[in-house]
Amino acid sequence: MDYESFFADRLGGLKREGRYRVFADLERQVGKFPIARNHRDGKVHDVTIWCSNDYLGMGTHPTVLAAMDEAMRSCGAGAGGTRNISGTNHYHVLLEEELAPWHAQEAALLFTSGYVANMTTLMTLGSQIPDLVILSDSDNHNSMIEGIRHSRAPKEIFRHNDLEHLESLLRKYPKETPKLIAFESVYSMDGDISPIKEICDLADEYSAMTYLDEVHAVGMYGETGSGVAERDGQRERITIIQATMGKAIGVIGGYICASRNLVDFVRSFGAGFIFTTSLPPAIAAGAQASVRYLKDHNDLRILHQERAATAKHRLAEAGLPVMPSVSHIVPVLVGDAALCKRASDLLLEAHDIYVQPINFPTVPKGTERLRLTPTPLHGDDHMDHMVEALTDVWRRLGLQRRAA
Ligand SMILES: *Cc1c(COP(=O)(O)O)cnc(C)c1O
Repeated sequence: MDYESFFADRLGGLKREGRYRVFADLERQVGKFPIARNHRDGKVHDVTIWCSNDYLGMGTHPTVLAAMDEAMRSCGAGAGGTRNISGTNHYHVLLEEELAPWHAQEAALLFTSGYVANMTTLMTLGSQIPDLVILSDSDNHNSMIEGIRHSRAPKEIFRHNDLEHLESLLRKYPKETPKLIAFESVYSMDGDISPIKEICDLADEYSAMTYLDEVHAVGMYGETGSGVAERDGQRERITIIQATMGKAIGVIGGYICASRNLVDFVRSFGAGFIFTTSLPPAIAAGAQASVRYLKDHNDLRILHQERAATAKHRLAEAGLPVMPSVSHIVPVLVGDAALCKRASDLLLEAHDIYVQPINFPTVPKGTERLRLTPTPLHGDDHMDHMVEALTDVWRRLGLQRRAA
């Protein structure tokens, strides 16, 4: 086989379809978020970032940086091992103790990322619990899909947020068959939110466990910011809450919170937890400082929601096709992969605005979009600039405007 031509051909296919991924080369700058330096064509440009998952700007927050700095100076760079073999640092223990009560659960377990948390937990439960059936929302994130797939447990996919469909699938199995319903709270590409209470009601009725990915909600919803389950008064009803420390918390790493026994089970049987070096102590310290700050700052969440609402309103007013979203996510429809990429390139080159195009397979073909994520640090001046720039790009490319 001519390996090199195989790789080149397959990449050529992606390029022809307009969905070859090009990374923006960025240098984030403390004190300037959402402005960052963008290295492009041998030059450096100041650009405004409109697609960061550092939803609240905690990644450059002085409180977080101070905690990381102190932990790094006292404990050093790496953890020095897996959790079992010399790699459990006191900062990991403190962070797990901080996270569990936040989600009204007994215990927490850290992973190196949210991806690994989903993959490992679902794979472990699905492969270890005899006869477990996993019921999975059709829009679930790839990390959940891969975890379920690799568990080899029988699975049922229910139509996105469709309670009737979910119930019809639950009804297929005898009451005593163990079941797990896996879903998310905020779905990050459309910005819609799942009916957590109703799913918990079904889980009770059919004796199923619930697995809730709060990755796009943690830090941002509920009085103390632990997520939509808190906002909706459902925290205690969820069997397993999973989240990331890489998005609104602003650092990196993932975790689950659940009962003491369930967490101990994943700790004891989860390969993706056991056989990997634990997070650097400074990361755990930074995440803990961030969580503490977020618990106490509902004002930041109120401002975040206000900024998102203002962005949606301003875009709609300008006749731009902002898609319906009940969360902080602001998707703007383009509907074509190549045009979506062109729009993103033009925003960067002509307006110093950075929004990554979202193409298939992340979203279905024909729904390619720009996904904006306003943060509390996007001021009115940033908004004016963004609306002007999008209006110009829509005109230049002759893109579809909002139906009147
Ligand atoms: C980003 C994401 C993850 C993975 O989290 P990381 O910490 O980035 O690995 C899991 N679930 C959902 C829904 C996500 O969007």
